[in-house]
Amino acid sequence: MISRKIVVVGGGAAGFFGAITSASTSPNFRALILERGSQFLQKVRISGGGRCNVTHACFNPRELSRSYPRGENELIGLLRRFQVQDTVQWFADHGVVLKIEKDGRMFPTTDSSQTIIDCLMVAAKTAGVEMRVNCGVEHIERHEDRFLVHTTSHEVIEADRLLLATGGCRTPALGSLATQLGHTLSKPVPSLFTLHVETPWVRALAGVTVEKVEVSLHGTDLKETGPILLTHWGLSGPVILRISAWGARLLHDLNYKGSLRINWLPDTSEDSLRSLLQERIKLQSAKRVVNSPLAPISARLWEALVTAAGIPSDRRWSELGRNGLHTLVETLFHTVLPVTGKSLNKDEFVTCGGVKLTEVDLKTMESKVCPGLFFAGELLDIDGITGGFNFQAAWTSGWVAGQSMAHP
Ligand SMILES: Cc1cc2nc3c(=O)[nH]c(=O)nc-3n(C[C@H](O)[C@H](O)[C@H](O)COP(=O)(O)OP(=O)(O)OC[C@H]3O[C@@H](n4cnc5c(N)ncnc54)[C@H](O)[C@@H]3O)c2cc1C
Repeated sequence: MISRKIVVVGGGAAGFFGAITSASTSPNFRALILERGSQFLQKVRISGGGRCNVTHACFNPRELSRSYPRGENELIGLLRRFQVQDTVQWFADHGVVLKIEKDGRMFPTTDSSQTIIDCLMVAAKTAGVEMRVNCGVEHIERHEDRFLVHTTSHEVIEADRLLLATGGCRTPALGSLATQLGHTLSKPVPSLFTLHVETPWVRALAGVTVEKVEVSLHGTDLKETGPILLTHWGLSGPVILRISAWGARLLHDLNYKGSLRINWLPDTSEDSLRSLLQERIKLQSAKRVVNSPLAPISARLWEALVTAAGIPSDRRWSELGRNGLHTLVETLFHTVLPVTGKSLNKDEFVTCGGVKLTEVDLKTMESKVCPGLFFAGELLDIDGITGGFNFQAAWTSGWVAGQSMAHP
């Protein structure tokens, strides 16, 4: 006999996983998802460029947790209970096969986020989850050992257990349901953004990618290695998104201004670069410097870097001299670019900050402040770098919350 009710606020990845898990774990609970939008799983729909990067092929919880600038230590225990292998198995059990791309990102073999939406909708219906769209929650009262959930349609729904899975709180107002129930938020700021650089030669090279560069922010410990993309507003690509994630708070405090250093040849030592350049001076002395790029730097980027080093376009290797050699080495290893702001990364963005993890029992995802209240997903102060890590945090925290809510 159904006797108790779980209300899930938020029909996104974490809310669905929490509701499906609780409803399929215990028949004694009835689960209801309340979604304020007109459609469920809207972010899943647009995620991964419409393909949904469901998770990342890293099967060791400790190693996986290193991809979370916020929540790294706290996630290890949670991931030991529901990790990437469990996500892959869960989707396989529900008819969805995931494939691994060469950078480790995992997508449905259909390359369509609709596959994930259909799967979650069917799983929720099969588990008997009740679902309502256009039903926002305005405020929640604690009444004796129950919750009174006030919706935008002026209904009051009683709940024995409540899961808040309302997503990233880009503004503190979006975390207000948690604060009404006694929680505090660590200050929300954006993560996963691209950087503005006014330098004309960078913008002129929009579209150029380099497979591996090392990027650091002058005066800080921030340093990341990976692919970069030059854009008509500055810099993007995985290495910039990683810098933006690890430096989300710091960059916010710096008002997104600073000096970025790029090493275009991170796998080359200074000694070997000098001998490569000396070799050119000897063997290609009559050739113009600007016309002889050094692999893996492309011809266009090489020309821009040589010009940025102040070497005239008609200068030959034989005429480079000590100073020319020195500035070329400096530019190749330490191009300094002033950062003037940030832009939204349209492919994926998340909020750094949210419900403080010290206020949540990370074995159950239950509030330490308000018994019966549970949390999952991006509303928590957990966020990952780009690559499927944010959905994995939603699946993991949703599953653990769902399991815990279903146990009397
Ligand atoms: C463009 C884009 C692409 C992305 N792509 C990827 C990707 O490929 N892989 C990846 O790992 N991550 C990706 N992310 C991040 C990922 O989408 C989120 O981390 C994830 O969706 C968080 O899930 P959630 O359920 O916590 O929150 P959401 O998915 O944000 O769901 C929260 C839901 O709660 C609802 N809600 C909020 N307040 C209320 C209320 N008061 N009452 C009722 N309902 C409410 C919202 O309408 C929303 O539907 C992407 C993000 C963006 C913006």
